[in-house]
Amino acid sequence: ATVLISGASGFIALHIVSQLLKQNYKVIGTVRSNEKRAKLLRQFQHNPNLFLEIVPDISQSNAFENVFERHGHEIRYVLHTSSPFYYDTTEYENDLLIPALEGTKNILNSIKRYAADTVKRVVVTSSCTAIITLAKTSDPSVVFTEQSWNEATWENCQVDGINAYFASKKFAEKAAWDFARENAGHIRFKLTTVNPSLVFGPQLFDEDVCEHLNTSCEIINGLIHAPANGTPSDLHSIFTDVRDVAQAHLYAFQREDTAGKRLVVSNGKFGDQDILDILNKDFPQLNGVIPLGKPGTGDQVTSPGATTDNSVTRELLGFEFKSLHQTVHDTAVQILRKENRQ
Ligand code: NDP
Repeated sequence: ATVLISGASGFIALHIVSQLLKQNYKVIGTVRSNEKRAKLLRQFQHNPNLFLEIVPDISQSNAFENVFERHGHEIRYVLHTSSPFYYDTTEYENDLLIPALEGTKNILNSIKRYAADTVKRVVVTSSCTAIITLAKTSDPSVVFTEQSWNEATWENCQVDGINAYFASKKFAEKAAWDFARENAGHIRFKLTTVNPSLVFGPQLFDEDVCEHLNTSCEIINGLIHAPANGTPSDLHSIFTDVRDVAQAHLYAFQREDTAGKRLVVSNGKFGDQDILDILNKDFPQLNGVIPLGKPGTGDQVTSPGATTDNSVTRELLGFEFKSLHQTVHDTAVQILRKENRQ
């Protein structure tokens, strides 16, 4: 069967493409430029099941029209992963909110126009940020679940890049559920969303390890390159591993019982201190080179505040999520290998 995946060159998407090809799907990916297309084809060793189309900007209303005109009849599953993920902007609408929201509406509209009868399942890569209300994260009485929605509004989220990014994912996901409901009589597909927390883990290809990594992996990269006299920040969040997130995307269209569900893929809290403890323990070459902080005290930072309960998702997916130890270890091994510091 044929799967369309948008944003095929992204950190998470590359792992999804790799798992799809291993399971012998025909994969049609979209990338933004000819250069990215050539690079990906080379990285996947010109796998005959991989086809790439160019979609320079998902916010353009006709962004996916050509792809569906050409391939619509054969596409059975659509995975929409592309969306801007960075905080470093003040152009909140143009850089974050509009591409996230319009990109989602555009791909769904193209499915409706060209493949209403043939696409069976659609998976939108949403995020825990669509679930978590930032203003409530320090409230210990709050539990976020598969039912929760970020309460940010289009207006009040435009205060910094983090708030705007969080809200961009909420508006995009909400638009997808609204679309599925409003078009129920005109489309065949069932919708599933995958809502990961911060995603760590190795880049699919070593060559993609560079000075600055994608937003989530940069947290680990930053600590590997932090000066020994630095102090760990109090920032903390929840994490998951990219290989688990990719697996969830496959189950999100392969299994009947995931249809109509939000899959919250997350394996618990972490803070800087927890990451530093793993780095210092597993990699002696980093001792005295990166901060030590106060080993074993990570809990003091991460325990207070709201919690996330994704037991419904864990039950549905039925596989063990990778631990913080494993995901940090594997991320660091790859970076240190690339820097000849094994
Ligand atoms: P990446 O930045 O690696 O991937 C994002 C992808 O979207 C890239 O391929 C990027 O293309 C593409 N993209 C962004 N904006 C546009 C646009 N306007 N037009 C066309 N393509 C665009 O990040 P991730 O792999 O981490 O993110 C993938 C998805 O997962 C996103 O939807 C993100 O919100 C979500 N997510 C990520 C989490 C994480 O911690 N990594 C956590 C939860 C959700 P290019 O690189 O060429 O610009």
